Order: sequence, then C-alpha cells, then structure tokens
Amino acid sequence: MREHSITHLDPRAPLVLDTRDLPRSPGAMREVVRVVPAPQDLGLELIGVPAGADLSLRLQMTSVSEGVYVSGQVTGPLVGECGRCLREINDTLDVTIAELYAYAHSTTDETTDEDEVGRMQGDLIDLEPAVRDAVVLALPANPLCREDCPGLCSECGEPWDNLPADHSHQAVDPRWAKLNDLTR
Ligand SMILES: [Zn+2]
Ligand SMILES: [Zn+2]
Repeated sequence: MREHSITHLDPRAPLVLDTRDLPRSPGAMREVVRVVPAPQDLGLELIGVPAGADLSLRLQMTSVSEGVYVSGQVTGPLVGECGRCLREINDTLDVTIAELYAYAHSTTDETTDEDEVGRMQGDLIDLEPAVRDAVVLALPANPLCREDCPGLCSECGEPWDNLPADHSHQAVDPRWAKLNDLTR
C-alpha cells in the first residue's frame, strides 16, 4: 500500500467539503451552496480575489464508485491592476470546478498519482487546490482595463487616456521655433 500525505483538514474550514451527508451509492447527489471568505493570494500577481472577499460556491457532489465527483461554479470579485496603464481593474471571477476525489484505498486511489486525481481525506474534501488551479488558469497574466488600453506615455508616465491627442515631448526644432515667431 502506498502512503499518502495526510494533512488534517478542519471540517469547518471554508473550502473543505464534508461528504458525511452524501450516501456512498453511485449517483447520489448533494448540492453545496455557500459563500465563504476567499483565502489569501487567490490569483496572480496583477489580479486576484481579495483575501476575505465573498467567494460563492454553487457545487454539486456526486457519488461515483471510486469516490466523489465535485462540479460547479465558483464566483467572486476580482481586483487587479491594468498591465499597461496601472489603473485599477474591477471584474468578476466565474470559474468551473470539475474534479474527482477518490476514496482512500479505492482502485483509483491505488492506481493514480495524487496530482492526477484528488483524494478524499476520510469524509472530507479539500477544495482549495482545485479552486486555486481553476482561478489561476482563468486569469490573464497581463490583465488589461480594456482590450485597446493605450497604456502610458513613455516620456512622462501619464495614461494616454488622460492626455490630449496631440500630446508630445518632441523638442521643437529651433528653426521652426523661429518660423513660429515670424508668423505670430
Ligand atoms: Zn489600462
Ligand atoms: Zn508624455
């Protein structure tokens, strides 16, 4: 028998699912609808769900012969910074979870690696790794406030959106300056 790393889960932790109510007969289902505080660092460097923000879970736990299949939506607020103009981005996270958690000592448990299929820990499921994976996959590494954000002027660092269309740091050619004087 292979040894699995057992971390002790708290059944009341926000992202731990307790399957004791779910009959272990294939096809049995339970809905999980709850709002939990988002864990720390849920997201990428420039965009993510603020720690403690409301994360809504609308999940279904389904008994299958080898374990419990968890599927559904996770939604919550996203706060980030535009990768071009550095302004704040406010958006909504909406990701899908679809993950099998194998019973300890089931065939699946014995024949797959832990990074392929999740594991039940007794009657409990630690949903956090699946939520983190889904969130990280869904988020852009370089978020933009809008598709065609023009970014910042490379000379003065002002967002182009705040600058007039003819904004320029081109030093006026002294000869032209003379001409300007003449035509004044
Ligand atoms: Zn921007
Ligand atoms: Zn400028």
